Amino acid sequence: MLHANVPDAHGRFGPYGGQFVPETLMPALAELEAAYAAAKQDPEFWSEFNGYLRHYVGRPTPISFARRLTEHLGGAQIYLKREDLAHSGAHKINNALGQALLVKRMGKQRVVAETGAGQHGVATATASALLGIDCVVYMGTVDMARQAPNVFRMKLLGAEVRGVDSGSKTLKDAINEAIRDWVTNVDGTHYLLGSALGPHPYPLIVRDFQRVIGDESRRQMQEQAGRLPDTVVACVGGGSNSIGIFYAFLDDPNVRLVGVEAGGRGIASGEHAARFADPKLARLGVLHGTRSFVMMDADGQIALTHSISAGLDYASVGPEHAYLRDLGRTEYTYCTDDQALAGFRALCRFEGIIPALESAHAIGHVLDLAPTLPEDHIILVNVSGRGDKDLDTVMREA
Ligand SMILES: *Cc1c(COP(=O)(O)O)cnc(C)c1O
Repeated sequence: MLHANVPDAHGRFGPYGGQFVPETLMPALAELEAAYAAAKQDPEFWSEFNGYLRHYVGRPTPISFARRLTEHLGGAQIYLKREDLAHSGAHKINNALGQALLVKRMGKQRVVAETGAGQHGVATATASALLGIDCVVYMGTVDMARQAPNVFRMKLLGAEVRGVDSGSKTLKDAINEAIRDWVTNVDGTHYLLGSALGPHPYPLIVRDFQRVIGDESRRQMQEQAGRLPDTVVACVGGGSNSIGIFYAFLDDPNVRLVGVEAGGRGIASGEHAARFADPKLARLGVLHGTRSFVMMDADGQIALTHSISAGLDYASVGPEHAYLRDLGRTEYTYCTDDQALAGFRALCRFEGIIPALESAHAIGHVLDLAPTLPEDHIILVNVSGRGDKDLDTVMREA
């Protein structure tokens, strides 16, 4: 088994991962690691988690055969894993709920989180409302202005949204403030991290809470298609929906696993977030506590990234992806903003599904891939979320 020994005791996935944090954070990470190790062994924890997934999130999410898109493209059969149908509109709720249950177990009553576009903030506020936890979300003031509806959603859900006015007033500044809050209030507070990123044990915890996507898919494909898919495609921001769907297939060598990063305005433009596609901009480095591929300039300053989808617009990528890529088990490609918009429109028009712009990157890749493959080839695409949040962006592009 490829993944049996990772992460190791230090949270490393080969040369990636680890815990690159100030000394003051080490006790908090150690506490979280111990709490999660205990929870992981406790069947009651998982039965509570699975109960909420079933009765609150609405899992299992279905798999839909995309008949008209398949006919239109003329090639491989396309199936869609419908995370857009999960409560609150995306896969993020799986992780937010899992960590919120862990918060209860640790005897804490407060969470802090950071959010860029607001999707992780909304998922965290949702899980906090459900379980009666105090929730503070840090958000750059530039992002708050751009994402006013999500700010209002979080407030409706009872969260306090704290604007961050330092630096570029966006996600990375919000992360710094959330970490500062966590260090100061660590006794009663948990930092609820939103993707398969950050210092150990977060990449492990987030993957374990998202692997339900792949576990369900594996079973559902057997039931619906009578066999496993030949190719699984998912978009990669920090890497949580993709590792979530890939994980169940790691030991099926005939299942190709393809991650799609944000190609923005094209690799040559430098305005993208395709960490694996641009060796000029992305190198091995440390960002927010973990070692992975990081986009940076010649002086090692974190590069400004661009994507039409906020959820893919991040300078680094989860360490487990870098590791699986080195092993040759997963592969990565990218979709430009324009290709993603084509994917967005195609799923609307042919399937009656308005996908998140993040998910539209996976669809955009399938528009190119499916026609090159025979009709007995099965592609499973993770539709990580729904597109209501992106209508303004798409309207401006029209
Ligand atoms: C946040 C988000 C993503 C990107 O995050 P990952 O951790 O890479 O999954 C993808 N799709 C949707 C709908 C999102 O909200």
